[in-house]
Order: sequence, then structure tokens, then C-alpha cells
Amino acid sequence: MGIEQHLGNSFVATSISFIANWSRKNSLWPFPFATACCSIEFMSCMTSDFDIARFGAERPSFSPRQADLMLVLGTITYKMAPVLWQAYQTMAEPKWVICVGACASTGGMFDTYAVLQGIDRVIPVDIYVPGCPPRPEMMLDALVKLQQKISKESVNDPKYRDRVEYLDKALNGGMSMSER
Ligand code: SF4
Repeated sequence: MGIEQHLGNSFVATSISFIANWSRKNSLWPFPFATACCSIEFMSCMTSDFDIARFGAERPSFSPRQADLMLVLGTITYKMAPVLWQAYQTMAEPKWVICVGACASTGGMFDTYAVLQGIDRVIPVDIYVPGCPPRPEMMLDALVKLQQKISKESVNDPKYRDRVEYLDKALNGGMSMSER
């Protein structure tokens, strides 16, 4: 008789989710997609004054393959948008996105033909940080809010299943280029 029959499937799924979420939220590996001045504020978060290591996210990754948290820091032009999308797709599941500052969130003051008016037109965003530029404390606050969000996720979340199915279909040739 399996443990599921003693305790119920929901109990097992909830326990696995708790352990997985606790591990994930306390060991985030940020990938700074840094294009402009907001990235300088993120650099401050890494210093001893703000000490992002207190939240377990002190290990920056400069390859999306070894990261699970994308931080978009700065203006994104239409020319950069496909690169942003590709970097996001390259990250392994589960993954999260924090959109930092007015430029990344809405285009900010750059309401021009060349600037993307918000990265959520290209990739999903978990947390937005307002400001121009946001203070390092605001980025740390966003990190804590993301940790709270992660702790409520479930390993049965259809979000993950849908994304994995999507990537599986794309990689195994079942999807035309126009569908990607
Ligand atoms: S929001 Fe302000 S500080 Fe951040 S990239 Fe845009 S102009 Fe620079």
C-alpha cells in the first residue's frame, strides 16, 4: 500500500510542493537582462549595503541556462524583443520574471516607434517594480514578494505543464514556425 493511499494524493502533492517551493524560493539564481541605468541599481543590491545574499539570491548568472529568475533592467527596443524572448525560452522551468523600472514595464519616457511599451507584450511577468530608477530596497521588496508568490505555487500547477508541453511540441517539430 503506497503512502498516497494512507495520506491521500493531495497531502503528498502539498508536501512535495512545500519542500520544492521552500528550496526554490531560497535559492533563486538571477539572470540580469540589463540594458540601461536600472541595472546600476541592481548592482547596488549585490553590495554589502543591501546584501541580496540575505535572501539567497546572491549568485548572478550571465547565461539564461543557469538561471531561474530573469530581471529585466532597462529599456527594451523592438530590435531587442526577440532576443529577450529567446533568452526567456532558454531558461529551464520553473522560472520567474521581475520587471524593473518604468522603461521595462511601460516603455517609460521613451514613447517612440523604436521602444517596446512593456515587456509583458513578449514574456510573462511575475512582479513589476515601479520607479525611475527604483531604489535597491524596492528590488529587494520585489524579491520577497516573489518568494511569497513561489511559496503558494503547486507542483501540479498547469502553468508548468502547459509550458513543458509547448516546448516539447516546438522542439520535436510538431509546431510550424508561425506557431512559435
Ligand atoms: S526606468 Fe529610469 S533608471 Fe530605469 S532604465 Fe528607464 S530611464 Fe533608466
